[in-house]
Amino acid sequence: MISVENRDIVIIGAAKSGVAAARMLQHKGACVFVTDAGEINPSMRRILSDACIPYEEKGHSNQAESGGFAVISPGVPTEAGLVQHYLNSGKKVYSEIEAASWFCESPILAVTGSNGKTTTANWLAHTYKVAGKEHLLAGNIGVAFSDVISQADPLTDMILEVSSFQLDHISSFQPKISIILNITPDHLNRYGNKFENYANSKLRIAENQQTGDSAIYWHDDAFLKSHFSVPRQGGPELFSFSDTTEVDKGAFVRNGKIYLKTEKEETFLMNENEISLPGRHNLLNGLATALSSRLSGIKDEAIRESLSTFKGVEHRFEFVGKKKGVRYYNDSKATNVNAVWYALKSFTDPVVLILGGQDKGNDYTDLIEPIREKVYAILAIGEASQKIQDQLKNAVPNFKVCTSLEEAVTTASGLAKEGQAVLLSPACASFDMFESYEARGNLFKLLVNNL
Ligand code: ADP
Repeated sequence: MISVENRDIVIIGAAKSGVAAARMLQHKGACVFVTDAGEINPSMRRILSDACIPYEEKGHSNQAESGGFAVISPGVPTEAGLVQHYLNSGKKVYSEIEAASWFCESPILAVTGSNGKTTTANWLAHTYKVAGKEHLLAGNIGVAFSDVISQADPLTDMILEVSSFQLDHISSFQPKISIILNITPDHLNRYGNKFENYANSKLRIAENQQTGDSAIYWHDDAFLKSHFSVPRQGGPELFSFSDTTEVDKGAFVRNGKIYLKTEKEETFLMNENEISLPGRHNLLNGLATALSSRLSGIKDEAIRESLSTFKGVEHRFEFVGKKKGVRYYNDSKATNVNAVWYALKSFTDPVVLILGGQDKGNDYTDLIEPIREKVYAILAIGEASQKIQDQLKNAVPNFKVCTSLEEAVTTASGLAKEGQAVLLSPACASFDMFESYEARGNLFKLLVNNL
């Protein structure tokens, strides 16, 4: 652990986690200074003023360069000038989760992956609730890790959703249980457009784990399987989950039944079709949840109840309602191609797909196979519509570019036949047309409810 008392610490980035880190470090006796290259949100400014934390915005002064070390918000790229200044002067740069972990007395269960983090972290929390086991839920999920440190004690487990940006600047962060759900291309713009850089950053979740800790990974992910094929000496005990292979240690499916297997025994948990959330991706999230819950001492009965009662998280493949025999789904959080792929694979009926928004360098042709299999029409929206048209128009019977989400929903309702489904699963960020993916999903739900 690093002593922070009376140390000059500069916090770079005044979004939620940066501000939370500033408050926590100040509480631990550090002299903190917050700096942001852009404008600070008024609510964050108020929190800083109320806590008497000095800050600056719209640029960095000399004081911003003079900290003993820096703590950065996940939104700040490593390439940012000020971060580079610290690194080039041989001073440390830590992420907010690293700083919070110095003071965390709770055992940490950390979940990462390209898709499914929020669902799985919430599912885990639901299992803890069902089991009546003390826990906190924080991280990349709305509540910063630093904000819950004061409540963390050894008898309360800390469930953390962790993004690759938060793992980029860890040093001693050591979860008791780490979970890597999957690694597929996303955010490559922050990793020099190299998949390997992004993937390696996810792997860091397990790098400080030791004997007595557990690392869980998806067995069917080639990158993860190869990485974990050679156990690290003195490293964590390895477990995996799979719906296609009976793994040696972990969670797997055999003939529609879910089993948990440790070195000592194999136990039947429940039938696969009792899982409350639809789709193969949620079966995988459920397997990861079951396995990590078991490893943290939760009884199978509570795990079973949790897996069959969890309602899912808003904007993730969320069922909105049925109108004139057509089912509508809001998957606004599907901001990469892989998430859309899994959503499409979950349908048995034909789908009218609303796709598009702000392109993140996507290759939409990765969707051609499930589109040919399942999609009756594509309605493209947003900045990405031309690229989507170029890459996918020939793969579907019906294709239309719509100028707004309103037009897309009206067109979808006219096109979709009874028994079909309409799916908003954009594969893109929302910022070209909306403030957030939540705003996009909320408008979609409103439009559907008004049909
Ligand atoms: P994250 O927090 O990693 O972004 P979410 O749980 O918020 O993950 O889900 C984001 C999107 O990914 C949603 O569209 C959801 O349906 C989809 N998804 C969830 N779990 C998985 C998974 N294991 N594999 C692929 N896609 C998934």
